Amino acid sequence: MTADLHIHTTASDGRLTPWEVVTRASEKGLQFIAITDHDTIDGFISLQYLPTPTPLTIIPGIEFSTDLPHNEVHILGYFIDTTNETLKKQLAIIINDRITRVQRMVERLHQLGYSVSLARVNEIAGEAKAIGRPHVAKALVEAGYFTSIQDAFNGLLEKNGPAYIPHYKLSPGQVIELIHLAGGLAVLAHPGLVGSDAIVQEMIELGIDGVEAYHPSHDEEQTKTYLAYAEAHHIVVTGGSDFHAIPGRFPQDLGTFTVPDSIAVRLQQAVQERLDIKKA
Ligand code: AMP
Ligand code: FE
Ligand code: FE
Ligand code: ZN
Repeated sequence: MTADLHIHTTASDGRLTPWEVVTRASEKGLQFIAITDHDTIDGFISLQYLPTPTPLTIIPGIEFSTDLPHNEVHILGYFIDTTNETLKKQLAIIINDRITRVQRMVERLHQLGYSVSLARVNEIAGEAKAIGRPHVAKALVEAGYFTSIQDAFNGLLEKNGPAYIPHYKLSPGQVIELIHLAGGLAVLAHPGLVGSDAIVQEMIELGIDGVEAYHPSHDEEQTKTYLAYAEAHHIVVTGGSDFHAIPGRFPQDLGTFTVPDSIAVRLQQAVQERLDIKKA
């Protein structure tokens, strides 16, 4: 049995609904999945009153975006208490900021001569709580300016690109603190994509609990490096497909990039240990 601890749904920029993800994961024989939408827990919450097909376990998760001057740092939160009031308030602020951020992106695009309408971007985002660049990119492709979402990112939307607008200002330290406050574990997402090993090191100093060593963007060498890194710093290892169901971006189907169940079990133990330490 296998696990996938990094999955997006229509609550952020994935193309499958949370229920479709669960059904697909079950068909593929996965034992553990974590729903890790960008800046929202609504996808996970929508599943709470639906029966989970056995033997699947769904772990509550989230993926926060933080911006450093030259790097984007994504931090995953696992086993967070989705009823935590501080967490919910902070997420509401971030989600509102995403709405104005997209408005500013569309304005910037107009200045640059790209005519995409905010209404169309909103339509593309549909039910998504966390509207963002992937929805803008899809509108740009639809309007014929680019042939793929990847091209739209490369040409305009990537970090510090011509139409790039930063995220709500939240530092990695603040995110780690928020995840801990909500009883969860903070894990550095795809360290290989951060683009700076010094920043990876800084995350340890900030109290990160784990590192996502297994990610489709990592080559064997990088995976080995981050595994050794976790061992040296006594932090947990996680892994997942970063599934979005977007053609050409990471695996297009669930079940093609997985990690052993033992990784999810170890993560469960680590969160329990944290709770025990808190109680003591
Ligand atoms: P946002 O949170 O609005 O800044 O959008 C970030 C999301 O855009 C990421 O989580 C990815 O899913 C997607 N993304 C980031 N970089 C690229 C890229 N180069 N090509 C395609 N999608 C990307
Ligand atoms: Fe994404
Ligand atoms: Fe990410
Ligand atoms: Zn992700």
